Amino acid sequence: MKCPNCGGRKAVEIDIHSEGFSAEVSPVKECGECGLVWRVKVVGDKSEIDIIKPAKK
Ligand SMILES: [Zn+2]
Repeated sequence: MKCPNCGGRKAVEIDIHSEGFSAEVSPVKECGECGLVWRVKVVGDKSEIDIIKPAKK
């Protein structure tokens, strides 16, 4: 998946166990280019981007 902030493709998945994962919430990802940390939540039939940490740039 591309970064929703900069479109970079170097995103890596981060394993965060502080919040329970469910089928509706994808693993947390961090962009290797801008530092954005996000995940995608599926709500109903659409997906929402959930920004956990803003980009550094
Ligand atoms: Zn990025």
